[in-house]
Amino acid sequence: MPRILTLANQKGGVGKTTTAINLATALAAIGERVLIIDVDPQGNASTGLGISRAGREISSYDLLVGESDVAGAAVMTDVPNVAIVPSTMDLLGVELAIAASSDRAFRLRDALRGMDGFLVAGKPVTYVLIDCPPSLNLLTINALVAADAVLVPLQCEFFALEGLSQLLQTIEHIRSTLNPRLSIQGVVMTMFDKRNNLSEQVLTDVRSEMGDLVYDTVIPRNVRLSEAPSYGKPALLYDLKCAGSQAYLRLATEVIRRERRLQAA
Ligand code: ADP
Ligand code: MG
Repeated sequence: MPRILTLANQKGGVGKTTTAINLATALAAIGERVLIIDVDPQGNASTGLGISRAGREISSYDLLVGESDVAGAAVMTDVPNVAIVPSTMDLLGVELAIAASSDRAFRLRDALRGMDGFLVAGKPVTYVLIDCPPSLNLLTINALVAADAVLVPLQCEFFALEGLSQLLQTIEHIRSTLNPRLSIQGVVMTMFDKRNNLSEQVLTDVRSEMGDLVYDTVIPRNVRLSEAPSYGKPALLYDLKCAGSQAYLRLATEVIRRERRLQAA
């Protein structure tokens, strides 16, 4: 089975999708085979990877309602060794479609258990990254129940920690009920602005609050990271040398190091 990492934070605009796209690309660049599952109805990860609306006949909605398996729903991206199960607006109706079934929180987990036959570059996927919507709804619950570990992006801004305790409580609740293997991979600080004293202060506060959970790698505020999606490309393919791309490459090596430690434990 691949390692399944969920990018979650119920706040919008903190860097979940940017991290999903660029971490996936960075992991692939260092030899992993990656599948992104876009479970945000906004579909920013799908768009940012150049998947047109027309290329989304089958989506994560179909996985969740059981009308497709991973092999049927995944499409290759232009990024070598990165595939995606795209999202569509149909996801807005998924809660209604599955709310009454007793396995509603396990739909994604079960779909991923059946992905052995899905190959990228002729081999099984080694990492699945799940990009969540900005809410703690049934989609995010499915993503947490399916995951081995959660990666939490936090924006370097004054209210960074606001809402974090709610997210941590949700993670803890899911661990004690629906998914005992769930752990926290780490907290990644995003949009760090070295010219802004507040960024530094927030970083210090979050490190003292969260300790070693915070990755050494900090993602800088970098215009290339925000421009790249409009070209349907990850920043790493748009401008490999920019500070943002380089930071995501460092993050990927940290993520792999932590995964090895988590797996050994
Ligand atoms: P989320 O998925 O949590 O809602 P996004 O990844 O979509 O957040 O990021 C929100 C916005 O901020 C997007 O416009 C994105 O391009 C931009 N952004 C994200 N990370 C950075 C960064 N490190 N530097 C500059 N802009 C960023
Ligand atoms: Mg997003």
